[in-house]
Amino acid sequence: MSRMGKVFLVGAGPGDPGLITVRGLECLKQADLVLYDGLVNPLLLRHASGQVERTARTARCDTNFVPQADVNDRMIAAARSGKCVVRLKGGDPYIFGRGGEEAEALAKAGVSFEVVPGLTAATAAAVAAGISLTHREYASAVALVTGHEDPSRDESRLDYSLLARFPGTLVFYMGLHRIETIAEKLMASGLAATTPAAVVCQATSPRQQLVSGTVVDIAAAVRAAGMHPPSLIFIGEAAAHRPSSTTVVKRPLEGVSIGLTRADAQLDATIHDVVEQGGEPVLMPLIEILPPVDWTPIDAALERLDEFDWLVFTSANGVRSLLNRLWETGGDARQLARTRIASIGPATTEALVEFRLRADLIPEAFRAEELAAALAPHVRGRRVLWARANRGRDVLPEAMAAAGARLEQLVVYRNQDVDSLPADVSERIREGRLDWIALGSPSIARNLARLVSPDELRRSGSPRLAAISPVTAEAARTCGYDVARVATEFTWPGLLTAIAGAYSPAIEK
Ligand code: SAH
Repeated sequence: MSRMGKVFLVGAGPGDPGLITVRGLECLKQADLVLYDGLVNPLLLRHASGQVERTARTARCDTNFVPQADVNDRMIAAARSGKCVVRLKGGDPYIFGRGGEEAEALAKAGVSFEVVPGLTAATAAAVAAGISLTHREYASAVALVTGHEDPSRDESRLDYSLLARFPGTLVFYMGLHRIETIAEKLMASGLAATTPAAVVCQATSPRQQLVSGTVVDIAAAVRAAGMHPPSLIFIGEAAAHRPSSTTVVKRPLEGVSIGLTRADAQLDATIHDVVEQGGEPVLMPLIEILPPVDWTPIDAALERLDEFDWLVFTSANGVRSLLNRLWETGGDARQLARTRIASIGPATTEALVEFRLRADLIPEAFRAEELAAALAPHVRGRRVLWARANRGRDVLPEAMAAAGARLEQLVVYRNQDVDSLPADVSERIREGRLDWIALGSPSIARNLARLVSPDELRRSGSPRLAAISPVTAEAARTCGYDVARVATEFTWPGLLTAIAGAYSPAIEK
């Protein structure tokens, strides 16, 4: 008989991918199957290695409509077939999330399960808005209230005359579309029209918005601001006592959306950096990193690695591909004992550190010409091995020949153009909902030109383009694009700094 699986009902937190619990993240990494709901930030799913499926209770054009009973059946069937299932739900699974019902169904089916709590929207949104829900002077209690029920209907299970007298902060979930009725009903039940109110939408995301006022005018303020769900309504004295906005530090990329064009396999570090700085990473890989078609020449070179005086790396991919292969074929770093190592820049050097290797030579500026110039005095009559991609600039071979070196080139990985943009990214570009596209190499710039016409971008003025180096900027301009920012440090962190500098020049030194 097969082993019985298990279900974890996991709270994903309010939106910021950093706000899931450590336990929740561990579950996600281990799961064979992840079923997630519409409130979950899709960036979290990058931690999942198993199968991932979205469920939605409301029918929308872009998702499958999955009735609750089917979600329950899916979880039960998968667990019975021995799988580890994560049911990932926005916020906390047991707060307005039907997690309780799902747990009951699992218990009834005899499936073992565990609930991993999450940070619910109310606490996260309140903190994000600077509201202390239980401020000692203004609130002795907090009520989490559903705004989904129509208060003007008789079947509402909420007693608004009780809510109007509640000695603390009221937090309405799912209430944006009924905010007028909720406010009117509270006032009709005796709540003072001057009671402070605040609404926070898309809390903890780069699109977070906050409006504040009083019960009598909050609905109009929300409409005027054009707020969209998910949102929470806070009502009570505590909603008015927010620290002044000057005490809140604005992060460098706050609210800025950036299309990231790097290969998917390399995106994680950049996603992290964008989120950390308050920006919204929009994933649009334009190249793919693939293993070499044929390992034979690489294996042959690895056999005689100790014949080379210099090993030259011009990318982190090159480092990982060659050195992982060395390990997998039974070798190790001792074969490099007498070989000197050159690295084009910081990312490549960091990849070497993963293998506990130090670069002997790093040029001052991270470009092929500088690398070649720095190497030239050391390589006359020497054997140099360059671990490279299948394409890229050919600066090194000429320069090495001129310097009298005996260069061998080894293609250790392939770069391949991606043929289309994700549908949601094309839509964002068309609708002007993407602020930047960050270009990481000349070939990425050229591939963008195949997929998004330079004329279209120039006409609409958005998204703006930022380039990782002058060489990349030049390639983009040759394709007909305008380039708004060029990094001064030719790395992805440098590229993000260049974009941040468009908002606050002080950021760039
Ligand atoms: N289980 C979730 C709530 C699910 S009900 C939790 O614990 O947070 C969905 C409602 O949650 C939305 O209508 C909205 O009122 C609230 N919500 C969820 N995420 C939110 C966010 N990032 N910002 C504001 N409100 C949010």
